[in-house]
Amino acid sequence: MKHYDIIIVGSGPAGLTAALYAARSDRSVMIFEGQQPGGQLTITTEVENFPGFEHGIQGPELMDIMRKQVHRFGAESSFTTITNVDFSGKPFTVTNDRDETFSADALILSTGATARWLGAEHEDDYKGYGISACATCDGFFFKDQDVMVVGGGDSAMEEADFLTKYAKSVTIVHRRDEYRASKIMLQRARNNEKIEFLENTVIQSYKGEKNNGIPKLTGVVLKDSISGETREQDVHGVFMGIGHTPNTQLFVGAIDLDDSGYVKTKPGTTRTNIAGVFACGDVQDSIYRQAITAAGTGCMAALDADRWLAEQE
Ligand code: NAP
Repeated sequence: MKHYDIIIVGSGPAGLTAALYAARSDRSVMIFEGQQPGGQLTITTEVENFPGFEHGIQGPELMDIMRKQVHRFGAESSFTTITNVDFSGKPFTVTNDRDETFSADALILSTGATARWLGAEHEDDYKGYGISACATCDGFFFKDQDVMVVGGGDSAMEEADFLTKYAKSVTIVHRRDEYRASKIMLQRARNNEKIEFLENTVIQSYKGEKNNGIPKLTGVVLKDSISGETREQDVHGVFMGIGHTPNTQLFVGAIDLDDSGYVKTKPGTTRTNIAGVFACGDVQDSIYRQAITAAGTGCMAALDADRWLAEQE
């Protein structure tokens, strides 16, 4: 069984920043990159708010640079997914989807979060056939078509704005008439003449047809969230922009999670309830969830882990 000082589970800005600091502290480090190497930024386009890039940078490019920087200091990456963790003994062990087990003196959990789905009727029938949770990945397929974005936060505004590059029209469907989105992003969407707003409205179900056995979304049934009235509207694509769920299924029962499933950390630190296990990034942050805050907590996790290891030595 290969042993490392520190194993990092997850490879977004949190995990890679943790790896950078840990490797520069002369610790042996393995990063398990998981199903989406580089994390959520790899399905983003322009990142304008990561300091240091005056003119912005493409999300995938930013993550490639981070990974190269980390590898320069000797951290290793495994492009596998951890399927089992054992926090009960020392050293800790993790097993990947190739059934290989690795051990480490300290663990850093940075598995991030995943886009949420509405769960409306027939959603599963059209996922990937008109319904998507990633405008950056799938927007291109909706050239000159009418699409909807669900949600009233920054994600919804960003997705809607992005989709206007391709779509004929974009309708933001929001269940209230107040928005969580930041003023600047809401205003940007409002100023975009291709974007319309449908407030106090929810998608009740999806409608579609099959062409040669292939499903195709053709419309939605909308429900007014105040009057309860329903009506149909034709649409070719629907994009989720309703937030994220922390990727903590692997840790249920093994570590303390909060009511929403985020890993609990001791305030002001990245320490979890298990000595030697640290958490950083979106897996423990339901509030800020920015690449830069994830990177910041990644740095904290590496410093916390390094100090903890030094105390054990
Ligand atoms: P969010 O702020 O939690 O917003 C989620 C939105 O989806 C809310 O408007 C919510 O409605 C709605 N929603 C949730 N569940 C729903 C359901 N079942 N049915 C209908 N609507 C539902 O999530 P987010 O937009 O993903 O943003 C998360 C964090 O990332 C925020 O801090 C945000 O600022 C940040 N972010 C930043 C950028 C950027 O700066 N470039 C881009 C994206 C995200 P209610 O308001 O009614 O609850």
